[in-house]
Amino acid sequence: MQIPLLDLKSQYQPLKDKMISEISEVLDSQICIGGPKLATLEEQVAALSDCQFGVGVSSGTDALLNSMMSLGIGQGDEVITTPFTFFGTVGCIVRLGAIPVFADIDPKTYNIDPTKIEAVITDKTKAIVPVHLFGQLADMDAIMAIAKKHQLFVIEDAAQAIGSSYKGKKAGSFGDTGCFSFYPTKNLGAVGDAGLIVTNDEALHYRLTIMRGHGMDPRYYHKFVGANFRLDAIQAAALLVKLPHLESWSKQRQENAAFYDQAFDPELVVTPYISDDCVSTYHQYCIRVSRRDELVAYLKEKQIGCDIYYPMPLHLQECFGDYGWKKGDYPESEKASEDILAIPIYPELTTDMQQVVVDTIHSFYK
Ligand SMILES: *Cc1c(COP(=O)(O)O)cnc(C)c1O
Repeated sequence: MQIPLLDLKSQYQPLKDKMISEISEVLDSQICIGGPKLATLEEQVAALSDCQFGVGVSSGTDALLNSMMSLGIGQGDEVITTPFTFFGTVGCIVRLGAIPVFADIDPKTYNIDPTKIEAVITDKTKAIVPVHLFGQLADMDAIMAIAKKHQLFVIEDAAQAIGSSYKGKKAGSFGDTGCFSFYPTKNLGAVGDAGLIVTNDEALHYRLTIMRGHGMDPRYYHKFVGANFRLDAIQAAALLVKLPHLESWSKQRQENAAFYDQAFDPELVVTPYISDDCVSTYHQYCIRVSRRDELVAYLKEKQIGCDIYYPMPLHLQECFGDYGWKKGDYPESEKASEDILAIPIYPELTTDMQQVVVDTIHSFYK
C-alpha cells in the first residue's frame, strides 16, 4: 500500500465545486487584492485564535517580518529564538540587521526551553520568538513571565499551530503578535502562499496593517518604510472555503495521533510527548528512532511517506558561518535532528493505513 506523508488531493476533492465557485466570484469581481473576503478571513482567524485583530499577509515568513518591523526591531537588536525551527523564523531576524540569539530546546517537546532563555538576555535583547513546533505550544507562562520581567516583545511563530492551545488559550493570543502560515501543506493551507498576523493591541494592529502596504496612510503618504506584504483575494477565498473544516481536520489529526500513541512499541519508537497544559493540532507527528536514516530508506522502499523536520539545526547552516556557532553549541537540537522522523498524520489517513505504517516500522526493527 502506498501511503503518502500528506494527501492534499483527497482534501480538495470534496471542496472542489465550492472552491471553484468562490474563486470564480473573485475573478468576476476583479477585486484581486484585499476586498471583503480578506476582511472576513481576518475576523474569523482572529476569533478562532482568541484575538481581536487579524492582518492577512503574503506568507508566514512575511507575518514574522512584518511583526518585527512593526515592533521596531532592527540593526543590532538581539532576538532570542530556537535553533530547531524552519529557516524563516531566523531568516527574518537576520534580514532586519538584528542578531539571532539561540536558546536550546526541551528534548521532549522540541520547543525552546524557557530555563535557557534568561542566561542569553543582554541589554540589546528586544524580543523572544517562541515557535510552537509540530502543533504544540511552547511553555508560554514561563516565556511571558521572562518577557514581562525584562520588557521584551514576544512574537509567536504559530505557523504550525493554528487552533492549538496552552492552558485553554489559543496559539497567537499570548504574544504581541501571533504569526500563521497558510503554505499549502500547513494545517490550513491556501492554494499558494499566504499568512496572517493576529494581535490584541490596537495600535500595533494599525502599524501591521499599514506596514503591509509600504507604510502608507493615507494613499501616497508614507509613515514608515514598509513593504508589499499583501494577501491576494483568491487566497482569502480559498482559505474561507477550508476554514469551516479546520476544527474537524484537527480532531482527525488528534485521533490519528492517539492511534499511533497506543500502537507503537515503546521499546522501538519514542512517540510525541504532549504536555498536560497543551492541546496539539499535530501539524506533524514526529517520532524518535534509532538508525533513523536506514529506516527512512526502508520506508521509501515500502512506499510510505516520511520526512525529517529538521535535518540540520539553524546554528549549523552554511549561510550563518560568520556567526561562529559550532557543533555542540545546542546539543538537544543537534540530537533531535539526528533521530527525529515525521510520519503520515493527515486527517484523511485511515486506520488501516496507520496500521500499515506501524507494522512496517516495527518490521524494520525485528
Ligand atoms: C511554514 C513556517 C514558516 C514560514 O511560513 P511560509 O508561509 O512558508 O513563509 C515559519 N515558521 C515555521 C515554524 C513554519 O513552519
